[in-house]
Amino acid sequence: EKVIFNGSITERSQLNIDIEDRGYQFGDGVYEVIRVYNGSLFTGEEHLQRLIKSAESIQIKIPYSISEMKNLLLKLIEENNLYLGIIYLQITRGVSQRNHLFPSADVEPSFVAYTRELQSPTEAMEKGVTAITVEDIRWLRCDIKSLNLLPNLLAKQKASEAGCFEALQHRSGAVTEGSSSNVSIVADGKIKTHPATNLILNGITRQVLLDISRKNGLEIIEEAFSVEEMLQADEVFLSGTTTEIMPIIEIDKQKIANGQPGLVTKQLQALFNEKIKEQCGL
Ligand code: PLP
Repeated sequence: EKVIFNGSITERSQLNIDIEDRGYQFGDGVYEVIRVYNGSLFTGEEHLQRLIKSAESIQIKIPYSISEMKNLLLKLIEENNLYLGIIYLQITRGVSQRNHLFPSADVEPSFVAYTRELQSPTEAMEKGVTAITVEDIRWLRCDIKSLNLLPNLLAKQKASEAGCFEALQHRSGAVTEGSSSNVSIVADGKIKTHPATNLILNGITRQVLLDISRKNGLEIIEEAFSVEEMLQADEVFLSGTTTEIMPIIEIDKQKIANGQPGLVTKQLQALFNEKIKEQCGL
């Protein structure tokens, strides 16, 4: 199995990660997860742009251009014979003696990427999944795709312990997003999703969703909604790179509408699949 380490492709078993890598010690870095369908990157450009933006917002300068990263990723896909799966990429502030202060400017960021085979969650996308609501206890820069994911992990674990798939976070009753997905509702024929502020990660899947909705005459508005509004909605669904578009049929043990995936959600799933075909030629 091959991986990318600091600009070149090497064997995973050859990799040496230092115990004083700031990613390891502080979560001092940012990451991306990109879907690969049919051996091609889906929305690769958008993910790499967001990686650069996340890195810039914590003052890490990525020493590679988008096209350099893209070429490396394509080479990695080929070397690992990846057809359907994901690529995980992360960049940290590099290796330096442990200190809260940033290291000196000559310390190079550490960049790694690896692949994993992963099917689309077809059964869950067809049947829908259940969720719980939890208080959003994260910091105020959720727009940065930071390695620091403790609150997200705690939320996801709590969902799993309640027998549910996802935890829907809210700040004093205003729904923000899932632990690793964005959330939207459908009410009165309109789709609503939280605006792309500092309180959520502006998902690439969310952005595709906005685009395909508008192009197909579906009304979608970027407006926060309450937990109450969500429980009363006609449809609720998640969006995310690994989750794709996933109906939520029950929240906090309460059925959403009749407890079946809704028509708008199904239509969006179909439009999303068309988009994948268009880009990755599936
Ligand atoms: N929100 C959070 C907190 C996430 O971690 C993710 C993705 O992992 C998303 C939303 C969805 O983003 P994307 O569609 O870019 O995968």
